[in-house]
Amino acid sequence: MTTPEPVPAQDVAVVVHGVRDLRVEQRPVPAPAPDEAVVRIAYGGICGSDLHYWTHGAAGESVLRAPMVLGHEVVGTVVTAAADGSGPPAGTEVAVHPAGTTDAAAAFPPGRPNLSPAGTYLGSAARSPHTEGAFARHAVLRAGMLRPLPGGLSLRTAAVAEPAAVAWHAVRRAGDVAGKKVLVIGCGPIGLLVVAVLRRAGAAEIVVTDVHEHPLTVARELGATDTVAAADADAVAAVAADVVFESSGSPRGLASAVRGAARGGTVVMVGLLPSGEQPALISLAITRELDLRGSFRFTDELDDVLAALADGSLQADAVVTHVLGVDDTLAAFELALDATASSKVLLEF
Ligand SMILES: [Zn+2]
Repeated sequence: MTTPEPVPAQDVAVVVHGVRDLRVEQRPVPAPAPDEAVVRIAYGGICGSDLHYWTHGAAGESVLRAPMVLGHEVVGTVVTAAADGSGPPAGTEVAVHPAGTTDAAAAFPPGRPNLSPAGTYLGSAARSPHTEGAFARHAVLRAGMLRPLPGGLSLRTAAVAEPAAVAWHAVRRAGDVAGKKVLVIGCGPIGLLVVAVLRRAGAAEIVVTDVHEHPLTVARELGATDTVAAADADAVAAVAADVVFESSGSPRGLASAVRGAARGGTVVMVGLLPSGEQPALISLAITRELDLRGSFRFTDELDDVLAALADGSLQADAVVTHVLGVDDTLAAFELALDATASSKVLLEF
């Protein structure tokens, strides 16, 4: 029996106060509710949404109205188990499923809780009060969000599990990709993880595009078989892929995705476009009878990802280009903004 690790009354957290106002500050560690555990966070991946709150004070439709702890891509070790006995015991290394629901009566399609209109997400300003994130040395989390790491899987490797689950969900939305020719538009962290998941899923050819050279190099490491310059519309059209993943989150990327799809092909839209109406190359999608499919977050794919990272069938380490200590949070955010130099940047707590 090990002595329980003491939980400090307050500890370091990464808080966005407004546009370009990000602070690493001491915050009280809340007393956990009976169904909550205290987790000592080891790593937190910086996501596009974290960057958007910092640079624009908003992520899509979610507008920052009060200071908020950022972060939803976290892994760590349980230091205080939930008092009601739910969830893993103290000492367990865990990944975190960031989704929760506040209203069980809210309707969503069967088996697709990611589409619940009442869904909450760690570090999200979609609702008021905001849902605090988990970029904190000690985070208080609902025990139902915690997923014990399979044996042999390190916290460091598991740190990409959340964005990899987003990628896994997107690939699942495409149906069977084995033996197919696939095009991935945009090689930010999600596009890169889509490449890694596609390789595991047996795609025959994985062609990637990006406007920068650095992410294409990482994409090759993760399994891309060919690269095309994003600006070369003719080369993109010549790919004629069975399945295209739009992971750039831009209208031009979506146009490239439609252009690069073979007749009768499928386009999975996983990159989140800016809110409001967006121009799109729809006429070509109609005459080619393309299936345009949205992909949003994930449901239970986190468990598939953890199993695949543990058994080595999913190789995603190359997506992490930098690990910085929490004291260097500002430098880490600046680095994560620079797609010519970084892919996934992790904070180490
Ligand atoms: Zn994320």
